[in-house]
Amino acid sequence: MTLELKRVSTGYEAVDVIHDIDLRVGEGEIVALVGANGAGKSTLVKAISGILPVRRGEVALDGQRIDRESPRARVLLGIAQVPEGRQVFGGLTVRENLRLGAYARGERDAAQFEHSIARVGALFPILLERRDVPAANLSGGQQQMLAIGRGLMAEPRILVLDEPSLGLAPVLVAEIFRLIASLRGQGRGILLSEQNARLSLAIADRAYVIENGRVALSGTGEELLHNAEVAERYLGVGKGVAVADSARHTQLAARLAALLGRS
Ligand code: ATP
Repeated sequence: MTLELKRVSTGYEAVDVIHDIDLRVGEGEIVALVGANGAGKSTLVKAISGILPVRRGEVALDGQRIDRESPRARVLLGIAQVPEGRQVFGGLTVRENLRLGAYARGERDAAQFEHSIARVGALFPILLERRDVPAANLSGGQQQMLAIGRGLMAEPRILVLDEPSLGLAPVLVAEIFRLIASLRGQGRGILLSEQNARLSLAIADRAYVIENGRVALSGTGEELLHNAEVAERYLGVGKGVAVADSARHTQLAARLAALLGRS
């Protein structure tokens, strides 16, 4: 399944925040959206999931326009979003949170639920171990795994992740990226919106750099990782970036490479 945006613009009240965005997420690929705080990444993600109406342009799945469909209808068509800030239900158990992901798809069949939960449990064994624990009692990293697991329970063809590393302790950030990298394949496309450009480019097949609501650059993760302009602005190797930040990002990238089995 291919998600395609053509010249999409939208925003809030009288102001457009994203302008003429062209973007594509194909089967089995991880596509990163990178850009500074406020560049418009979350707005773009909301336009894809239908939380925010598209004002101009088109959003299509396999060539069929979906930009007039409700958020629920888009889940049923195969797009699941993992929202920024995790937004798990703290008073519900891990298992109950996962069940909500299946309900979003209208799935009430007990056998199918157990099948989906087993698949999610194979990816995130800690969620199975802690299935009867209230989500509020999980660590931040485990809550993020739960939010991703809940998205996967909808059996999406396109999974949209909004800032999955936000607010996580540095030791968990590389681990979350490793987990996201492990979701590649099985025909599922992943759109990953992230401020951590270095790690998202490291796992992305392709990426788009968003600046002031427009696509400023696009290319393979590898190309953008080695692009001087991207390095200067987003990778913490430029003049304007604090040395401590740069060192921390480099350490995280080394950790991720180790987790991915690359050196
Ligand atoms: P962040 O990483 O901070 O989420 P972002 O790249 O996702 O950044 P957006 O959240 O899409 O950026 O914000 C883009 C612009 O839209 C910003 O100028 C922001 O102030 C504005 N904006 C975001 N949400 C709203 C809203 N609900 N109403 C009005 N303006 C908004």
